[in-house]
Amino acid sequence: MSRVYNFSAGPAILPEAVLQAAAEEMLDYQGTGMSVMEMSHRSKAYMDIMQRAEADLRDLMEIPDHYKVLFLQGGASLQFAMVPMNLMKNGVADFIVTGQWAKKAAQECGKFGKANKIASSEDKIFSYIPDCSDLPISEDADYVHICENNTIYGTKFSALPNTKGKTLVSDMSSCILSEPVDVSQYGVIYAGAQKNVGPAGVTIVIIREDLIGAEIPAGMPTMLSYKTHAENDSMYNTPPAYSIYICGKVFQWLKGLGGLKAVQEMNLKKAGILYDFLEESKLFRSPVVKKDRSLMNVPFITGKDAVDEKFIKEAKAVGFENLKGHRSVGGMRASIYNAMPIAGVEALVAFMRKFEEENMHYV
Ligand SMILES: *Cc1c(COP(=O)(O)O)cnc(C)c1O
Repeated sequence: MSRVYNFSAGPAILPEAVLQAAAEEMLDYQGTGMSVMEMSHRSKAYMDIMQRAEADLRDLMEIPDHYKVLFLQGGASLQFAMVPMNLMKNGVADFIVTGQWAKKAAQECGKFGKANKIASSEDKIFSYIPDCSDLPISEDADYVHICENNTIYGTKFSALPNTKGKTLVSDMSSCILSEPVDVSQYGVIYAGAQKNVGPAGVTIVIIREDLIGAEIPAGMPTMLSYKTHAENDSMYNTPPAYSIYICGKVFQWLKGLGGLKAVQEMNLKKAGILYDFLEESKLFRSPVVKKDRSLMNVPFITGKDAVDEKFIKEAKAVGFENLKGHRSVGGMRASIYNAMPIAGVEALVAFMRKFEEENMHYV
């Protein structure tokens, strides 16, 4: 067996300890004689897995009691629709457009009401986060939506926008659990698991209870109402049981590392190794404004497509996988989520250094 360093943006690397533990329990989960994949989601064994997962997530993120934690399906992309369907009262929402995902969220919202673009960084190919200290927030906005970490462009909000009292909704798909957050600043946090948490198939939604609504609005499909899932502890129908089980193991792994403060320190150190090299390199550079750089997704370029291509090819040949940038931007991108060991980033930087020495004639 040999494992590569996997820099995929998602589905992405998982902690080896988690994969190993899951492998050991594959055929017989703790004496049940069956795999977690095979068990009833109403069984005692599975209910315990689910409750433990929620409790550990609450612990890690210090989620206040008046927030519900939901494990849903449909990806972050379904939340682009569920958020407006459930939260819109006035039919207005404000969007800070910092990349393709934020844009898609706004577009989808436009099917249900008015989606105002109140700020954007599209003028410079989403390479920065706009100043959000005094934005023209709509008076009747039901909420303000951000994509907190921009997976494709490698930017991250370093401070939350001033929403002037309006509910903040955050797509945290690619930064959830990468650092401590103050959940009470948000109305809704949502994240597809397959970036920084677990396997594809489950979406985490953390929602303040008063936003859930007392009744399911007429005409709304049962499955698209937060109320349905909140009332039934994410067990209205069959949940993505195996994915949740793996997420639960990741939560335990994170607690074992010392919680999110320790994880943040590790991530700062890890990303620092790569960003420091990009600063000193003559061949590679970061296209992102320094103060807005993501700790999770690190795009870099040489400025020459042919050299980028050569780099990606040679990197792949020695076990660095999925370094190709998103098809919409090109270049390279190293996604260095929680599960990427520091050794992976150190090895990548050593390889980049060597590549640079061998290819100085392109500088
Ligand atoms: C990947 C991603 C999405 C889309 O997630 P799906 O789970 O595939 O729907 C949305 N937002 C962000 C920030 C992402 O990184």
